[in-house]
Amino acid sequence: MASILLAPDALLRAQCDRVEIFSGMQGALAMELLGAMYRAEGRGLAAPQIGVTQRMFVIDTSWKEGAPRPMVFVNPQITDAAAETATGEERCLSIPDHAVDVTRPVWIDLRWQDLTGAPMEGRFSGFDAVCIQHERDHLDGVLITDHEAD
Ligand code: ZN
Repeated sequence: MASILLAPDALLRAQCDRVEIFSGMQGALAMELLGAMYRAEGRGLAAPQIGVTQRMFVIDTSWKEGAPRPMVFVNPQITDAAAETATGEERCLSIPDHAVDVTRPVWIDLRWQDLTGAPMEGRFSGFDAVCIQHERDHLDGVLITDHEAD
């Protein structure tokens, strides 16, 4: 069972590698990430948080209020972002009991790949946009505490 790494673990600061070869490995990793995220009662979890330095994360922004809606993102790239920003309190499963006000664009356009490597794209707003930007930061070793000076 995957356990979630806590800051200041060095793996949380890694620049993660692009996923180049799609196999059953990514599906297994996605299941591990979702399992660890739900057990920790989180809404998002990135691969480096369980010690796997690959560009993959999962989110589910609705399971606490209604039906689960797990989403998996591989090799995500933000291709456009709103000029308008909003500031909200964020928490991170790797930094327990610590909240940081983070300012982010209110919507983003994202390109990513699914678990088969198929290209996907979409626009995300609201809490989805916040969560995706938070998890994507993890793939570059960026934590919410880095936003504290914003
Ligand atoms: Zn986090």
